[in-house]
Amino acid sequence: MSGYVYDFIEGNKDLKDLLGGKGANLAEMTRMGLPVPPGFTITTEACQEYLRTGSMPTGLLAEVEHHLRQMQTRIGRTFGDPRDPLLLSVRSGAKFSMPGMMETILDIGLNDSSVAGLARQSGDERFAWDSYRRLIQMFGRTVFDVPAGEFEDGGDRDAAGLKELVEAYKKVFQAHTGRDFPQAIHEQLFLAIGAVFRSWNAERATLYRRQERIPQDLGTAVNIMAMVFGNRGDDSGTGVAFTRDPATGLRGSYGDYLRNAQGEDVVAGIRNTIGLSELATIDPASYRQLLSIMQRLEQRYRDLCDIEFTIENGKLWMLQTRVGKRTPAAAFVIAAQLVDEGTITLDEALQRVTGQQLAQLMFPSFDETTAPPPLTTGVAASPGAAAGAIVFDSAAAAAATGPVILVRRETNPDDLPGMIAAQGILTSRGGKTSHAAVVARGMGKTCVCGAEELEISDDRLVIGGRTLYAGDVISIDGTNGRVYAGSVPVHASKVVRYFEGELTAHGDPLLSAIERLMIHADHSARLGVHANADTSADAARARRFGATGIGLCRTEHMFLGDRRVLIERLILGEHDALAALLPLQRTDFERLFEAMDGLPVTIRLIDPPLHEFLPSLEELTARVARATALGEDPGRDGVLLAAVRRMHEQNPMLGLRGVRLGLVVPGLFAMQVRAVAEAAAARVAAGGDPRPEIMVPLVGAVQELEIVRAEAESILASVPGAPPIRIGTMIEVPRAALTAGQIAGAAEFFSFGTNDLTQMTWGFSRDDVEGAFFGRYLSLGVFATSPFETIDPDGVGELVRIAVERGRATRPDLTVGVCGEHGGDPASVHFFHEAGLDYVSCSPFRVPIARLEAGRAAV
Ligand code: ADP
Ligand code: MG
Ligand code: MG
Repeated sequence: MSGYVYDFIEGNKDLKDLLGGKGANLAEMTRMGLPVPPGFTITTEACQEYLRTGSMPTGLLAEVEHHLRQMQTRIGRTFGDPRDPLLLSVRSGAKFSMPGMMETILDIGLNDSSVAGLARQSGDERFAWDSYRRLIQMFGRTVFDVPAGEFEDGGDRDAAGLKELVEAYKKVFQAHTGRDFPQAIHEQLFLAIGAVFRSWNAERATLYRRQERIPQDLGTAVNIMAMVFGNRGDDSGTGVAFTRDPATGLRGSYGDYLRNAQGEDVVAGIRNTIGLSELATIDPASYRQLLSIMQRLEQRYRDLCDIEFTIENGKLWMLQTRVGKRTPAAAFVIAAQLVDEGTITLDEALQRVTGQQLAQLMFPSFDETTAPPPLTTGVAASPGAAAGAIVFDSAAAAAATGPVILVRRETNPDDLPGMIAAQGILTSRGGKTSHAAVVARGMGKTCVCGAEELEISDDRLVIGGRTLYAGDVISIDGTNGRVYAGSVPVHASKVVRYFEGELTAHGDPLLSAIERLMIHADHSARLGVHANADTSADAARARRFGATGIGLCRTEHMFLGDRRVLIERLILGEHDALAALLPLQRTDFERLFEAMDGLPVTIRLIDPPLHEFLPSLEELTARVARATALGEDPGRDGVLLAAVRRMHEQNPMLGLRGVRLGLVVPGLFAMQVRAVAEAAAARVAAGGDPRPEIMVPLVGAVQELEIVRAEAESILASVPGAPPIRIGTMIEVPRAALTAGQIAGAAEFFSFGTNDLTQMTWGFSRDDVEGAFFGRYLSLGVFATSPFETIDPDGVGELVRIAVERGRATRPDLTVGVCGEHGGDPASVHFFHEAGLDYVSCSPFRVPIARLEAGRAAV
């Protein structure tokens, strides 16, 4: 045997690579002695082989037959037996969960003779013919791409009606495929296996993987298992359940149950379900058994699990389990609960939450006090607040330019592009486990589902006599399920208010969980977290959010507004402008040092090309032309125009900026250094503890830094009462990274400016790439994420590693940080941790995210 097939009793939950998540977990449940219908799994390797060669791997089908025979012996029934047929489901299941993206075919083994056996055995003719017609439809659609709509609706026909329908379905099948529906049951089985293999490459599955960053070459496993039937009458049914509430994380079991139905009916949200707790009255024995199984699963997986189950004539069967998806809030609450319950350690709890989830919790939500009365309330399926124009189909959502809400009766996997494009999703059918809910939660997108009062058609939405059309604006609140007409104002998140100090965590499960995990993250982290802040207000917020310093204060922001004219005068050579700027800068710095008293504040000397402070060439040209036409003297505009022309650069980002300005424009850096020193001296005099540092931008050669440093040191020495002020440099030109050993001789600290370093290393302008070619590059797989979002570890990252190593070789106590956008990006934070940096610096709102990730990187 080549080893392509594993019986459920052979596998376990750690074999997800080979058996897929579904197969590995079915095996685990079988191992635990839970009631799982017998079956076996074809490995992902077989799928990879099939997709590579286009045909079934040698020996696979023989192996399948072998396992099928073993299974028949165990159950004591035979596949497709005309007297009492064993029927099979053929289910996809990849390593990573891809809900509803691939195919599953139920009731394999029914044909013209076994349908009679099923009817006799179940004593239910209607049920048998209904199963048969479902098979022809599902098989036709999945294996031969017969459009589902070609098959007439099942409706409420009786057995005779369904029998006629089977004949009609067969004709449809014949007409589309040019062959009869296969009566040979082994052929059915083999064709179904191939179709499931191929469904790995379905367009929607490929798109989903791209969105979720799942590798495209893993392939799916195929699970073949005995069918059990939830559609055998009122003592049968099917359901989906969670061991805790996946929306809030609170303890208790949650789920949806549908009586007298087959599995897909629940997930598809086609009929409205009842709550799991109602099962307690309908079938108390099964309910109790289910609860105890759920408890055992939680213990085994040490996490929230979701399950699919079916009850056939009062007997409970487990069809699926996995560690369940959850909202960001639930992730924090559950992680903290599991620590309390003694199930996991605090270190593990940190691994169970992400900075991305924390970021989502910091989004604003609707302001309840100013919201109008809601139009209706549906199921709160995925939290957040979203407002946008109504679109009724995926294509319109994908084509929209502004924010849209995708409004559908229910969604199916074909709606994925629209769901990605929309701000939020609203459906009128289905519960928390419907397709819309599951996919939206996975994407972190706002979703309200099951808003039953809405009548949704192709081009309008009717609610209580009111009609809304495509393009009308609505707002949806995924936290409480409310739907509003118009655009509702939003307010800050509870989590943000907690970080701001406006709320305490006491008594709030979410805030308490966050507090606990943040304390552990700070305690574990090796990387410090600083903030990029230019004003005292930003600095104060950063401090409240837990920043332990300012890693980047951009002084150019201090030259905007009224002060712009002083830069103009400076450019025009009026040197008293510097004297006028000095006291203004000094006051700015004083405020900043006060807000960050006792913590380092890294001040970057002016960086951008000075002509950015002048009016544009077009504007000036027009003004001068107008004046000349009127016979007036253009005056100052004329002089400015000449200056703009003189300073014009083809590539300003590679031009006269950063340290180059300091070396070319006399007195500019000196003024800034003096302002820093005098502000610090003033704070010391006032009893403060200022800790300024001076940072020189865009250095590429140690000589540049040495010249600036010599001048700065003499100014610092000349200001009485100033504390010691360290001088360092940004590393943002590749040459600086490569010559870091020399540069460290003149720098007490480095800060990687990874925005410039990325654009200079790749040689593309970050202001121009997004529209130009990044989309194409992402889809071609040149990179999986924009290197401006997540640091490119191989190229730019290598320069970082080189600079750290060479810089510390020269100066072992060199402080090294990063102040580009990457400082607040979770994956990049982990990289900087590995690279041995001392801190990351990011925007104030990203500070809690970076703190969490710095902690996670260290445990
Ligand atoms: P997905 O990965 O899209 O959830 P599944 O493989 O879980 O697809 O199958 C879809 C549905 O088919 C499930 O909800 C389940 O209830 C039903 N199903 C699968 N196998 C069986 C079976 N052996 N007996 C009864 N129902 C089944
Ligand atoms: Mg499933
Ligand atoms: Mg820069």
